[in-house]
Amino acid sequence: TGGAARDKDKADRATTEQVLDRRTQMILLQLINRNIISEIHGVISTGKEANVYHAISETEDEQQTQIHRAVKVYKTSILVFKDRAKYVEGEFRFRQGYNKSNNRAMVRLWADKERRNLARIHDAGIPSPAPVALRNHVLVMGFVGDRKGKAAPRLKDVRFEGLTNEEEDAKWKDLYVEMLIYMRVLYQTCRLIHADLSEYNVLYHEGKQWIIDVSQAVEHDHPRSLEFLRMDIKNVSDFFQSRNVETLSERRAFAFVTSEEGAKDIKEQAQIEANIRTLLETAPRTEEEKQKEDENDEVFRNQYIPQTLDQVYDIERDAELVNAGEGSSLPYQALLAGKVVRPNESDASNPDADSEAGDSDSSEVDQSI
Ligand code: ADP
Ligand code: MG
Repeated sequence: TGGAARDKDKADRATTEQVLDRRTQMILLQLINRNIISEIHGVISTGKEANVYHAISETEDEQQTQIHRAVKVYKTSILVFKDRAKYVEGEFRFRQGYNKSNNRAMVRLWADKERRNLARIHDAGIPSPAPVALRNHVLVMGFVGDRKGKAAPRLKDVRFEGLTNEEEDAKWKDLYVEMLIYMRVLYQTCRLIHADLSEYNVLYHEGKQWIIDVSQAVEHDHPRSLEFLRMDIKNVSDFFQSRNVETLSERRAFAFVTSEEGAKDIKEQAQIEANIRTLLETAPRTEEEKQKEDENDEVFRNQYIPQTLDQVYDIERDAELVNAGEGSSLPYQALLAGKVVRPNESDASNPDADSEAGDSDSSEVDQSI
């Protein structure tokens, strides 16, 4: 029935908007042949690191119900992925199989990392696209958007119309509270830090915030995870402040997300929310108090929190510094003087840190899930 030609045609559509290399075209064709998707529509986003397409998938029953999908195609140019090394290095899950010299393998690793992180986040009940299939650097996932295939807006583009100022303020405050809940569940239940959280990587759909773009998310044992968390908190605070929300100080937000005490599961959402509301009510009100907290935040942001022994002791780097007469800048100068928190011993309590290592797609095997 000319199926192959027709499929090729469908794959070609994706090519019309943005040039795709042959390998990518072949992979899209294969996804179509295997009924993982049935048609690729327009591009939703073209980014530095990836393009995202809208696709349709059809159920195999008589009705052939159409389901919307998002297809994220990672770019394989080396420059873009170079500075991402900081996210991968030192993270136990990816110590094996990480190969700087092999660009394609690295990009595949990123796609696979996004798939695994999405699965974890989705399973924890945080609104996020479910991963559907992965083949090499092409990830098929749930589509966040309406029934007609219009993608949901990013948080930064959301406007509430027809509300009074008070109603609008209340709306943004609710969203801020919701974001803190998700950050806490992400940290406590998924054991992840997003590491690129901002109004650009949150979609607003059906009254909720959906977390996306998680290929760079790291586990607690990443040497810079707390630094990334502080960055996430700062981005979130800045954004909600721009929407007139009286946010928690960054220090308080950080303590809230990481605290061992209290509810951690999305099922306890109401309890988590109550805790945040209490925190918000007891936060400083006067200008003087606020200014003091802000100053503290500045100190707090610049504070060095060594997390793992790896980060503290890098013999080669330190030897170089000492030889260059710069030994005094070493973080454990302070540690030795008892000024800095002692680093955690390596995180042996993380059950899946090891089990997932090395299962990245090193073969050409299809990874539909
Ligand atoms: P990057 O920022 O690396 O280019 P993202 O994962 O942030 O990649 O995706 C880019 C854009 O594509 C998002 O801002 C969003 O508008 C859109 N997008 C991504 N995933 C989905 C999805 N599952 N459903 C709908 N739109 C999506
Ligand atoms: Mg993004």
